[in-house]
Amino acid sequence: MVSLEERYEHLEKTIRGYNISADFAQIRAAYEYARDHHGDQLRRDGTPYITHPLQVAQIVAEMRLDSESIIAALLHDCIEDTDSTYDDIAKRFSSTVADIVDGVTKLTRVQYSTMEEEQMENLRKMLFAMSKDIRVILIKIADRLHNMRTMEYQTPEKQKKKAFETMEIYAPIAHRLGMQKVKWELEDLSLKYLDPVAYKEIVDKLAAESQEHAQFMSDVQAQITQRLGEMGIGNATVYGRVKHPYSIYRKMYAQDKTMDEVYDLFAFRVLVDTVADCYNVLGVIHDLYKPILGRFKDYIATPKPNMYQSLHTTVIGDQGIPFEVQIRTYDMHAIAEYGVAAHWKYKQGIKGEGGEKTYEWIRRLLENQEDADAEDFIHSLKIDMFSDEVFVFTPRGDVINLPAESTPIDFAYSIHSAIGNSMVGAKVNGRMVGFDYQLHNGDIVEINTSKSAHGPSRDWVKIARSSEARSKIRQWFKKERREENIAQGRASFESELKHAGMTMAQITAPDVLPAVMKRIPFKTLDEMYAAIGYGGYTALKAVNRIRDEIIHINRTAGQEKAAEAAKAQPPAKEQQEAAKGLPKKVKSEKGIVVEGLSNCLVKFSKCCTPVPGDEIVGFITRGYGVSVHRKDCPNADPARRSEADQGRWIKVSWGEDVNASYDTSLEVVCKDRPKLLMDISTVLSTSKVNVSGLNVQSTADGFAIFHVTISVTGYQQLDQVMRKLGQISSVMKVTRPAG
Ligand code: MN
Repeated sequence: MVSLEERYEHLEKTIRGYNISADFAQIRAAYEYARDHHGDQLRRDGTPYITHPLQVAQIVAEMRLDSESIIAALLHDCIEDTDSTYDDIAKRFSSTVADIVDGVTKLTRVQYSTMEEEQMENLRKMLFAMSKDIRVILIKIADRLHNMRTMEYQTPEKQKKKAFETMEIYAPIAHRLGMQKVKWELEDLSLKYLDPVAYKEIVDKLAAESQEHAQFMSDVQAQITQRLGEMGIGNATVYGRVKHPYSIYRKMYAQDKTMDEVYDLFAFRVLVDTVADCYNVLGVIHDLYKPILGRFKDYIATPKPNMYQSLHTTVIGDQGIPFEVQIRTYDMHAIAEYGVAAHWKYKQGIKGEGGEKTYEWIRRLLENQEDADAEDFIHSLKIDMFSDEVFVFTPRGDVINLPAESTPIDFAYSIHSAIGNSMVGAKVNGRMVGFDYQLHNGDIVEINTSKSAHGPSRDWVKIARSSEARSKIRQWFKKERREENIAQGRASFESELKHAGMTMAQITAPDVLPAVMKRIPFKTLDEMYAAIGYGGYTALKAVNRIRDEIIHINRTAGQEKAAEAAKAQPPAKEQQEAAKGLPKKVKSEKGIVVEGLSNCLVKFSKCCTPVPGDEIVGFITRGYGVSVHRKDCPNADPARRSEADQGRWIKVSWGEDVNASYDTSLEVVCKDRPKLLMDISTVLSTSKVNVSGLNVQSTADGFAIFHVTISVTGYQQLDQVMRKLGQISSVMKVTRPAG
């Protein structure tokens, strides 16, 4: 067991290794401050909480960041989890440190509740946009890395959730920042929880063959080293490694290969002093081994966007085993391992001049880099890529991307123009705000709407930032004038109708309306009203024509009725029972008993596809009977029901005479691989369910989302199918979509 003090001393030693003039007094003060504030809080594994910030600081030190970063890393959970405050940290340490801690806290509070691919890029951008200082995101990545390393103590649900977030959000961010080593570790740790079976298979196999691998690598290493010596290429470092498990996993599944078949399991690195030496080494390698055509890549001449530079080639060794060789300078290597973080340390070491051209990528992120000294450089190292955008959440957790300085009006119209037009209030993070409130990254925005809303006001066009909102508001005003016309026209039509002794019900009856419409020169009643409203047609003319038509219809109908009455049918059975006063049996429709109503039309909502066994609730639609939802369907959420519709929600239950089967939908999220569809179809057919729909959507980064529609007898069978699907290798999540 390593004591806290020993851990702390190890941290100091690591820092001393790259920054002898670090502020050790303040670093120790930060350690003690965090230790005292976290007090006797414990982590899930039973260790004192302070071990976590200490380890995060250790990772940050391994990235070779500055004193402020180490101090902020030690304090990173203080605002969130203890009684410490921003002001207290600013006073005892510095406002910069407090800003960084505050930034990390804000990222920690971001809730991810979506799995949709198009949302992931928005989430990643949001994290960038929220980290005003790049050190915030570096510390957040270190925090996530340590949490993933200690994930075994969490519940399985949390493990999967965090692993998914890490794979989808944090690993790509680490990649974007050029932090190869951190990215690999995040990916491997995520894979361990996302696909434990495959992970174990790979790790076990690597372990079983580690001796052979080591032998192979040391042979190749010796061959290359010897040849470089003969060629007079000095100060070269050569070493080999086995590729990391997630990289092997990806290749196995993408190419449907066993581990033995995976191309280049091994990667070798040759580090040298100069770019010229890199190309010399390449010549030596291609002379020693047979290069595979089309596998050479020159990232020195054309660096990757994340500023990675290296020469890559794949060759075939003596025993016919292919392997990759990466050749780069020591400086390029530091960038490859730690990306942005390495660049920083590099800047600290070299004051003022030299080497800057290498970092065009970072340069683009900077606001004013000219003549900046190291200190200023760090402070200007802000991520301003997304400064013209703001990212906010809907109450359901979807990220909405709006122009900077957007307001609740922009948000409402970006959801739907009907939301904007009926908006009566807005809440941000649970508090009421004005319509001109400026949204911040990470805000959760909720719009209150009302059927009786007056619609947008003219001022809104000025308040809104997005062209989308502005044009929708303008559209409303244009259309609204038509509606004013309609309302006015309808009023004068109705009054004229009354004058003639008729009612609206008379002319809108389904068997009358079509005939009436033939007599007037308009396709719909609204068109007629609008015309009357603006004076293009008169109410009197309309009523006269309609009256003539109705008199005609009534005459014909009267003759028919007389004929029917002559035939005199006996009353139907139900009417007889009702007449005798017998109690009505509770009848169900499609297996659904609707409280207080019988013989009503029932349909199952498409959004949540309930099956017998689900808790359900009904909604009386306008004209299509009762729509049945699952109780947990967001569309049935009492908090989201509009006031006007409150009375339409009714109790429903499953009757005894349920149908033989019910259609329901499932969503299956998987890491894509060959034969996945076959495995899924096999499970469905062996489960004896009818499949009426199956479609798959592949995402750019290798995931597949299946939407399956099946018929099941009820919840029990559905649950079995879901379990079986969940057991398929590379399936990550099986859910019933709702809402
Ligand atoms: Mn933490």
